[in-house]
Amino acid sequence: MSAAYTAVVIAPSEFVQRMRRAADSLEALGADALVVTPGPALRYLTNYDAVALERLTCLVLQPGREAVLVVPALEYPAALAAGVEALGIQVVSWQEDQDAVAMVVELLPYEAVIAVDDHMPATKVLALAQAMSSMPVLAGPALNALQMIKSSAEIDELRIAGAAIDRVHARMGEWLQAGRSEAQVARDIAEAIVAEGHARVDFVIVASGPHSASAHHAVSDRILQAGEPVVVDIGGTTPSGYCSDETRTYWLGKPDQQYLEHCAALERAQQEAFDAATIGASAQSVDAAARQVLAEAGLGEYFVHRTGHGIGTSTHEEPYIVQGNPQELRAGMAFSIEPGFYIPQRWGARLEDIVVMTREGAQRVNHRPRGLTLL
Ligand code: ZN
Ligand code: ZN
Repeated sequence: MSAAYTAVVIAPSEFVQRMRRAADSLEALGADALVVTPGPALRYLTNYDAVALERLTCLVLQPGREAVLVVPALEYPAALAAGVEALGIQVVSWQEDQDAVAMVVELLPYEAVIAVDDHMPATKVLALAQAMSSMPVLAGPALNALQMIKSSAEIDELRIAGAAIDRVHARMGEWLQAGRSEAQVARDIAEAIVAEGHARVDFVIVASGPHSASAHHAVSDRILQAGEPVVVDIGGTTPSGYCSDETRTYWLGKPDQQYLEHCAALERAQQEAFDAATIGASAQSVDAAARQVLAEAGLGEYFVHRTGHGIGTSTHEEPYIVQGNPQELRAGMAFSIEPGFYIPQRWGARLEDIVVMTREGAQRVNHRPRGLTLL
């Protein structure tokens, strides 16, 4: 089943603006150039969904200078197909017998300091550092601040991603059945994540029975049984590069009364956190709102993780909704609100929506029913 699906296409001018802002932010880092290898940051800046290879592909940005994309010759057609030239990026390709790092260094002024994206592989960082006269600095503080405030087109993309993952959760009854293994269910879910509008599957968590008590359980060969919960946390990346992430908890068969009460508290905790997410409120106050409800329900000690994380071209980014983060919530932010409880050897549950901050306040992009879903 493939749903009607219209992608918002982010305008080339928006990528040009992102690159300019990134270059302009370098001064604050004490850097002269930004060097970005394949990953969410490169996608964010150029829309190029480059393959991460042992060969060097990197974008080089300098304030007031033309952006340059250095690519292995065999990736040159893919880079052009991604439309980077339309963004004013000069594409330079290197042959197998050429020194790509030396080509990057030649683009830079003498004794330049480079800022590298936080997820650049160590092999690339060290190769660049050895070829330069100074150690690189991390670009994270500048790039994260840029990526944290989304444009209206990005918010629309997150809504599309949210609707797509909602459609997968809506079909859960097709797959979650006693007698099937978590792994079998996960394979069906992965197929549906793509069928419902994602370009790729990022993760599938199917945590049944006692596995639901582990927040980090992924998938196993355990067979689902009647009379137990199943936590399903799933996400993918849409064709335009934006991520989805949604958790619902299901119950097979006749529900347990105490578990129902725990899940009702979880639903209240998620709602209280959502209500606390107002413009100008702090990230940590949203975390505190969820934590207070679960503490009052006697579940405080079992809520063992932060309440949420930012989301965009990567599943986990700033702002983190966690105790100790005074970050003020602003229009354009997007993050998860996902309280949970995990009672060792017994069971657990998590409830997760992605929320976007608009001038009118917080809005969810996920709309599946939030209470315990009985199958
Ligand atoms: Zn999740
Ligand atoms: Zn999440």
